[in-house]
Amino acid sequence: MTTRAYVIDEMISAKSIAARVEALAKEIGKEFEGTEQLVVVGLLRGSFVFIADLARELKLPVEVDFLEVSSYGNAMETSREVRILKDLRAAIEGRDVLVVEDIVDTGHTLSHVVNLLASRNPRKLKTIALLDKPSRRETEIRADWTGFEIPDEFVVGYGIDYAQRDRNLPHIGKVRFSE
Ligand code: 5GP
Ligand code: MG
Ligand code: MG
Repeated sequence: MTTRAYVIDEMISAKSIAARVEALAKEIGKEFEGTEQLVVVGLLRGSFVFIADLARELKLPVEVDFLEVSSYGNAMETSREVRILKDLRAAIEGRDVLVVEDIVDTGHTLSHVVNLLASRNPRKLKTIALLDKPSRRETEIRADWTGFEIPDEFVVGYGIDYAQRDRNLPHIGKVRFSE
């Protein structure tokens, strides 16, 4: 895979992310107090680091599951088509579900996922996104919880890739093309 040369400028430090994740987990804990077993659904692949940290901060019984839908491929433009690449293992009918997304950009992905999962009749369906780019929105959707609002920049790190690279950066950085 060839990419243009780029550098990554830190936008959100690992420390700030950790503090925010802890605070979000407290709010989520209140929302789902008494839930027998919350189904925490990570959208692959960008949410894998976020869901790992968030799940460990949640002081309630959880089941971790994953859903993979296609959106970006390796390009930087979003497509409006969302296809299921990997479906849930869990049956969510009558259960409490938290969808964990990396970034809400145009909102098409999250809104398709919410419609899909809602059609399976969960008892309660909530969403959380680590990052939100409100200026890019093309749909009505808003996550129930958001880690950070960011400007319209292409970001990587903390699970989020550029052409499958940089997912393992501990912080969120913005991509700047160096030539
Ligand atoms: P949406 O359907 O909201 O336009 O797109 C959501 C998905 O696009 C996100 O879950 C994420 O996978 C991808 N995306 C949006 N913005 C960025 C970005 O700045 N960097 C990367 N790597 N992916 C992004
Ligand atoms: Mg995503
Ligand atoms: Mg991606």
